[in-house]
Amino acid sequence: MDVSTEKYDVIVVGGGNAALCSALAACEEGAKVLILERAPASERGGNSTFTEGLMRCVYNGVDDIRALSPELTDAEVASADFGSYTEERFFDDMTRITQNRTDPDLCEILVKNSNAVMHWMCKHGVRFLPQFGRQAFNIDGKFTFWGGATLAAWGGGPGLVDALYKAVEKSGARVAYGAWVQDLVHSDSGVSGVVVKMNRVTRTTKAGAVVLACGGFEANTEWRSGHLGRGWDLAKVRGTKYNTGDGLAMALRIGAQPHGHWSGCHAVGWERYASDFGDYALTNDYERDSYPFSIIVNSEGKRFLDEGADFRNYTYAKYGHIILEQPGQFAWQIYDSKVVNLLRPEYRTKHVTKVTANTIEELADKLEDVNKAELLKTIREFNAAVKTDVPFNPNLKDGRCAAGLAIPKSNWANPLDTPPFEAYGITCGITFTFGGVRITNEAQVVNTNHEPMAGLFAAGEMVGGLFYFNYPGASGLTSGAVFGRIAGRSAGRYAKEKRAA
Ligand SMILES: Cc1cc2nc3c(=O)[nH]c(=O)nc-3n(C[C@H](O)[C@H](O)[C@H](O)COP(=O)(O)OP(=O)(O)OC[C@H]3O[C@@H](n4cnc5c(N)ncnc54)[C@H](O)[C@@H]3O)c2cc1C
Repeated sequence: MDVSTEKYDVIVVGGGNAALCSALAACEEGAKVLILERAPASERGGNSTFTEGLMRCVYNGVDDIRALSPELTDAEVASADFGSYTEERFFDDMTRITQNRTDPDLCEILVKNSNAVMHWMCKHGVRFLPQFGRQAFNIDGKFTFWGGATLAAWGGGPGLVDALYKAVEKSGARVAYGAWVQDLVHSDSGVSGVVVKMNRVTRTTKAGAVVLACGGFEANTEWRSGHLGRGWDLAKVRGTKYNTGDGLAMALRIGAQPHGHWSGCHAVGWERYASDFGDYALTNDYERDSYPFSIIVNSEGKRFLDEGADFRNYTYAKYGHIILEQPGQFAWQIYDSKVVNLLRPEYRTKHVTKVTANTIEELADKLEDVNKAELLKTIREFNAAVKTDVPFNPNLKDGRCAAGLAIPKSNWANPLDTPPFEAYGITCGITFTFGGVRITNEAQVVNTNHEPMAGLFAAGEMVGGLFYFNYPGASGLTSGAVFGRIAGRSAGRYAKEKRAA
């Protein structure tokens, strides 16, 4: 496909959730839209493809869930306590998790549009289902949702991305794969196109406006060690290999303002011997997120974080960093048979580094890269510290703690005393970077002179200022959809006005 011969109203750079939502919204404005996705069609969709499709949104009870998930049966509804996730709770989570750093304007836009954007996605063919099992445990026949991330797209990330590609194609947008955008065309009157390399040929394609939705720099080893710091070059990349910071580089080159936590990122505990980049066949199967029910030890046989500090959704994105700091950048999660029924299904795939044993002594012998004497001492002390008189309940922060230790475990503590024991090897997997460009409330990129840049819009991981230090699980897709929709709408309107002028 020669994309250089025609002039478009809006060019969207990237092919993930944020880009596709931008393209849809620009089409709704009547714009002629071209999507330039660097990946080949078989690897399209960026990090969005690798997700569980989980989206955090405001809802005020079961009726709001049914409105977004009309396929739910009465029996499913009866088996669940969805509770509510109010605007106040979403705001609280964003401010608490980011240590009060989240940009108040962007945060408000994210929270207040979170529910409406999912209805808009439904209108475009995306289907949502509650995440029974992953976001609510079955206790005595009842699933109680606990983490503000209740709904996921049908088919997970691949299902979400396929549905959005179907919608953009139906809307008339053109999609070019293998289209590696390398620069922006700009002048004093603003951005008017891109320089794109396709089939080894570099060309210029003109447009009324450009939306950058081409991810962060998590797949760029050099930028990771430069911006995130020492050791980050050793992290595994959980998702696409194509998010190398190109969009950020080209925007900064023409004066865009960096914003947000450039030395921060989302990173998790991940299969120790995972491939260097995300694997399209496995997507999220390397995730090891049942750790609230484990103890995690390093090669010295010592615990180094509070596994039960909060629900998984509020700790997993910051624990990858701590795992990276351990000697050899690895750790082991250890479970006993009392809790293995709570492990997520990915622990039961063949892509795990797993050790099983019938005694703690045997387990310590088998974990050859761990100091045996220290490990036995750690487990002995941990077992003695568990407040077994407090009932265990995975659907609540149950307060069943292991107290009086150098590193406490605040909830869900269980003595490791019931064989067989299972240990899973993990390392740090980076998900996405937090630093990005500053945008206005209309998703227009702002320059270092604090002025909106004519013709340039941004969405998704490229937007800085929302997340600092940590991240409330399932906010990334919501952010991409909310700001993608705004960016596409703004770009469409801008291009229309420019055409009319
Ligand atoms: C394993 C995993 C699981 C996750 N699970 C969830 C979840 O369940 N819920 C959630 O909310 N978030 C989740 N996330 C985070 C989520 O993926 C991101 O927040 C979100 O997908 C970002 O969307 P995006 O469109 O900004 O970026 P992406 O989806 O990464 O899209 C970026 C696009 O830009 C393209 N691109 C890059 N450079 C160029 C270039 N130079 N030219 C043209 N195109 C380019 C890429 O090919 C890609 O298509 C997960 C991430 C991973 C890796």
